[in-house]
Amino acid sequence: MKNAYVNRIWEEVKAKNANEPEFLQAVEEVLTTLEPAVDKMPELEPNAILERMVEPERVIMFRVPWMDDAGNYHVNRGFRVQFNSAIGPYKGGLRFSKEVNLSVLKFLGFEQVLKNSLTTLPMGGGKGGSDFDPHGKSDKEVMRFCQSFMTELYRHIGADVDVPAGDKNVGGREIGYLFGQYKRIRDEYTGVLTGKGLTFGGSLIRTEATGYGLIYFAREMLKVKGQDFKGKTCVVSGSGNVAQYAAEKLIQLGAKVVTLSDSSGYIYDADGITQEKLDWVKELKCVKRGRISEYAKQFPSAKYFEGKKVWEVKCDCAFPCATQNELLEADAEMLLKNGVKLVAEGANMPSDNAAVAKFQAAKIMYAPGKASNAGGVATSGLEMSQNSERLSWSAAEVDAKLDSIMCNIHDNCLNTAKRFGLVDGEYVNYQAGANIAGFVKVAEAMIAQGLV
Ligand code: NDP
Repeated sequence: MKNAYVNRIWEEVKAKNANEPEFLQAVEEVLTTLEPAVDKMPELEPNAILERMVEPERVIMFRVPWMDDAGNYHVNRGFRVQFNSAIGPYKGGLRFSKEVNLSVLKFLGFEQVLKNSLTTLPMGGGKGGSDFDPHGKSDKEVMRFCQSFMTELYRHIGADVDVPAGDKNVGGREIGYLFGQYKRIRDEYTGVLTGKGLTFGGSLIRTEATGYGLIYFAREMLKVKGQDFKGKTCVVSGSGNVAQYAAEKLIQLGAKVVTLSDSSGYIYDADGITQEKLDWVKELKCVKRGRISEYAKQFPSAKYFEGKKVWEVKCDCAFPCATQNELLEADAEMLLKNGVKLVAEGANMPSDNAAVAKFQAAKIMYAPGKASNAGGVATSGLEMSQNSERLSWSAAEVDAKLDSIMCNIHDNCLNTAKRFGLVDGEYVNYQAGANIAGFVKVAEAMIAQGLV
């Protein structure tokens, strides 16, 4: 890194967080793209803005004891990372997964700060979760775990303090149990969580929002080049919330979606995944909680590839929607060799920094998750507004607002890239545009609020 201030911060972050590889990866990705802004903003260093941006305001870690159906006791670890509240209450999802640790949650919280800033809504950044894995657990076990988790978390959150949502393995079922326990302990009915069920304060379109928003963003990228999705072959990874609704919107816009995956392997459907087949996947994943391999048994046009990743499939557009670091340098090379023209991230940090460098060098259209998957948190922000108003908006109203927010995020990234000289002919550096646009707003708010 050329800028002396940026370089000093990077060295300090590495020394202080040596055991947190995901967090370091996320910070490096952002710092390397911020230099044009830091060069033009001499007020940052005397205000210690970068020092404060890379340090969470607060980290809470706690014990979560719970009992399984057979009466055995278990103990998991719970976390909430309250990263930055310069532009609003902390906001960000809860993840339940064996992989959860401080490094993963700090990377997610750090990214969330910039993402929430991009949405234009007044939301700070946070993230939380547990190393509890709901796979294979009964509904009652999940309920007891969620109740125990909230019995500690409740004292750190609130509708104007910190508003968690779902993330990997935290969907409608988990949010319902968490909300019920919060209401019981606090004896108050507020919008303290988003992603709630429609009968108790949830917003229409929140379930669809991240996937739909991703495709709205990608549609805008194509539009800049006078293109659209009609007839384009698309690969989608994952088969959870984000993947399902990314696939649904792609189908609606005339694309041919040929893959879905889970952590065991992927399916390739040569005829394309139709809405009918996708409805079957939703039932499989959200109700039966089955594996994607079952798709190939159900639909003869499909083949299942155990232990493989979707990136080996030839496509025009690729949408990583599963998890961090699922798309590495060799995967990027494979996609480029097969002629990919657009990669837009539904997951958080799915491409590692080497893969992103390949996309940038090849000058294809590349959208970083913190911009292209911001539709989920944006619609959470809309859920908060509806809860405050004690009103519910129609699906069409929320969808129109989501679409307009995604267009604004796209234009903000594009215009920021233009302003900082990060556009070269047809090529737009959306990655730097997103990081700089998100960062500048937070930095200005922090400077205005003094040394806190
Ligand atoms: P879900 O839990 O609904 O789905 C995750 C999917 O990814 C599952 O199909 C899961 O399969 C698969 N998966 C997990 N690990 C791997 C792996 N190593 N390789 C391949 N597939 C894997 O989560 P979401 O869809 O909600 O979230 C997906 C990503 O999107 C995460 O990065 C999340 O942070 C991000 N995101 C989510 C938002 C939301 O609103 N939900 C908002 C913004 C970002 P399996 O069943 O085998 O675990």
